Amino acid sequence: MSDLAHIAERRGRRAQAPRSVLFCSSCGDFLDRAGRRRVCPECGMGVLLSAAPEALPARRAAFAVVDGDLRVTAVSAAGERLFESDALGRSLASLVSARGRDAELARQVARAASGVSGTTRLRVRIAGRRGVFEARVSPCGPPRAALVALERRAN
Ligand SMILES: [Zn+2]
Repeated sequence: MSDLAHIAERRGRRAQAPRSVLFCSSCGDFLDRAGRRRVCPECGMGVLLSAAPEALPARRAAFAVVDGDLRVTAVSAAGERLFESDALGRSLASLVSARGRDAELARQVARAASGVSGTTRLRVRIAGRRGVFEARVSPCGPPRAALVALERRAN
């Protein structure tokens, strides 16, 4: 599995700019390289995933990892603080609403979970939270899944 990270790293060097970031599914910290590791050396809780650099707004971001059935398979520590209930195993639709564009959100998440590259941004609301958030939907892995990163917006 670390082979994918190595390939991403090599490509990054050739392009002089990182083509992917390596991050922990739990603490959300970034790592320079995985080596043969699959578990995060920082927190010992999460697995190491990679995604495009624009997929995450920052280190230790609030995010959920979602499978092709639109079920949450991992949540970062910041994401756990954002969702009012235990999000693991729940459907994304029960946690995040795209205000009349739920079908579009579901379509983008399914697309990312199937590995189609690119990052889509949608304005969303989070169950039990006031205000508007921006969801960034991108592919991540391994294993292949959708990364849904959430960031608060002014209105
Ligand atoms: Zn970690």
